[in-house]
Amino acid sequence: MNTSDTDTRSAPSLAIIVPCFNEQAVLPVTCQRLLGTLEGLRETHRIAPHSRIYLIDDGSTDATWDVIEQTAAASDGICGIKLSRNFGHQNALLAGLLSVDEEIAISIDADLQDDIGVIEQMIDAYRRGHDVVYGVRRKRDADSLFKRMSAQLYYRLLRAMGISIEYNSADFRLVSHRVLRALRDYGEVNLFLRGIIPTIGFTSTTVLYDRVDREHGETKYPIGKMLALAVDGITSFSALPLRMIALLGLIIFIGSLALSAWVLWIRLVSDIAIPGWASSVLPMYFLGGIQLLSIGVLGEYASKIYMETKRRPRFIIEKTLD
Ligand code: UDP
Ligand code: MG
Repeated sequence: MNTSDTDTRSAPSLAIIVPCFNEQAVLPVTCQRLLGTLEGLRETHRIAPHSRIYLIDDGSTDATWDVIEQTAAASDGICGIKLSRNFGHQNALLAGLLSVDEEIAISIDADLQDDIGVIEQMIDAYRRGHDVVYGVRRKRDADSLFKRMSAQLYYRLLRAMGISIEYNSADFRLVSHRVLRALRDYGEVNLFLRGIIPTIGFTSTTVLYDRVDREHGETKYPIGKMLALAVDGITSFSALPLRMIALLGLIIFIGSLALSAWVLWIRLVSDIAIPGWASSVLPMYFLGGIQLLSIGVLGEYASKIYMETKRRPRFIIEKTLD
């Protein structure tokens, strides 16, 4: 037995949730390693025997589902969930989280860039009484300079807008059945799990790990998808951009009042030539730009409302394998 005196909860049943989109290249290795981890956790009596791995096929166009079927047939602890089409990473994750009935769930990317070695620490933290355990990256040297810089800037921006999100944590985390039950009540279509989980509450903690390079296959998060997730993260949680528009409008209004006074003064008091092209054309471009930007931000929120009012399902399960 490897359990310490500080443990208060008994060994929970564990569901490991793995969203997979075109992951045929990594899946065999991933399954093998996760099964090994599960076995190790069972042997040290950290988890209950009936713990399982859930592979969610997010509408892959390659042989991902075939690989899932084969591995599920070959080994006991693997279940497959096939979505009817590609719903995106966050929805695939949600499909997994809402489908399991184990006591705790740990979500992890299929490429195993996150260190499965810390799963043990996550479970120990749960047994000490934490309902959410975030995996937090110690440093980001596996990422390109661009991704590193933009991620840092983004987390700062979220913080500044009052959106509480664990710094440098992605979707590698443990949640308890209590958190999962609460998550069912969050009906929003624009889902940003990283922002929602902290709003659920309960006690949480973090474990540190190092992220490694993707071994097989390519990133399924091209720049477009990354930007979309980034915008969702802000507009799903904060109305600050809308308020900024109003502020910007006010500042420009005051500025234009001052400018008018100056123009009048030149006209009436001095005899300098009336400023010509620049002073009339520049403000036009400037105001045009601000207006378009503001309409864009408004549109972003309007589209959120539009999507939410339709109450469309966030994922559709085509079939499941136990
Ligand atoms: N993923 C998914 N649906 C998508 C895109 C990605 O389920 O539409 C999964 C993907 O299979 C992987 C995880 O989300 O398990 C993270 O993707 P990836 O590793 O490509 O992102 P990166 O690590 O490059 O940010
Ligand atoms: Mg990855």
